[in-house]
Order: sequence, then C-alpha cells, then structure tokens
Amino acid sequence: MRDDNCIFCKIANGEIPSATVYEDPDFRVILDLGPASKGHALILPKSHFKDLCDADPEAMAKILPLAGRLGKAMKESLNASGFNVVQNNGASAGQTVFHLHVHVIPRYDGGPEMVAWKPGKEEAEELAKTAEKVAAQL
Ligand code: 5GP
Ligand code: ZN
Repeated sequence: MRDDNCIFCKIANGEIPSATVYEDPDFRVILDLGPASKGHALILPKSHFKDLCDADPEAMAKILPLAGRLGKAMKESLNASGFNVVQNNGASAGQTVFHLHVHVIPRYDGGPEMVAWKPGKEEAEELAKTAEKVAAQL
C-alpha cells in the first residue's frame, strides 16, 4: 500500500519532514508548500491511493469528518471565516500529485476569489440524458 517513487507516501509516513498539523494511524495532515491561503492544509492517507476511484472506502469515510475538524480548528486558531474542501482527481481536474489528498483551504473575509466557476446553462432534457448515462455506470 505504498509507492517508493511517491513523494506523498514519503511525507505521509514521516520519511520526509513536513509541517505536520495532525497525525493518526491512517492520515498525516500537512501544510501545503504553495498555500492558496494561510493555513492551507493537505490530508494525506498513509496508504498510497492514486485518486478517489482507487481509494479504500473505509479510509475515505474518515476523511470528511477530519476535514470538518480541521476547518473548525482553522476558524478558531487562524480566524478564518470559512473553508473550502477540494479534492482533485486526474490531470484534467488539476491533480498534480498522484497520491490521493484532500485540500482544506481556510478562507478569510475580503480574501481573493478561488475555487469558483462560471455557471453554465443546460436544458432539462439534456440534464436528464446525462443523469441517465452516469447512473447506468454506478
Ligand atoms: P493537487 O494539484 O495534486 O491537487 O495538489 C498538490 C498540492 O501539493 C499543491 O497544492 C502543491 O502545492 C502541494 N505540494 C506539492 N509538493 C509538495 C511537497 O513536497 N510538500 C508540501 N507540503 N506540499 C506539496
Ligand atoms: Zn503515495
């Protein structure tokens, strides 16, 4: 459950030092080297999963509660007023490190816009067709 060529495997398992916020048997939470905002954290599973499609559901069930705890701690310790939870899968989605990780990004009043998209438009018929396609593969 680890990849010798993976930097996040090495960081998660303590072989490369990092600014660690939290550690338990399943995860290490570190601060991102290129933070989007002060306190931007990454939840790294200690096991190597390439992305969410490859991940162990039992480990994943623990991630959102941990993200929530981190967000709450960021609000209390850093005076953040909100936070984003972001998880990229695949290069087209912006994933650059292919060891699953979850970003927890504290947000501050008056801070820059990020994690936003321009809403598109779609007819109900097209939405229904797309929903049917995806549902057939679940
Ligand atoms: P992704 O784009 O794959 O979702 O996010 C990868 C994140 O990992 C980026 O935000 C990047 O700044 C961060 N990162 C990449 N290499 C390192 C590293 O060696 N240490 C830390 N702390 N963060 C890293
Ligand atoms: Zn890895």
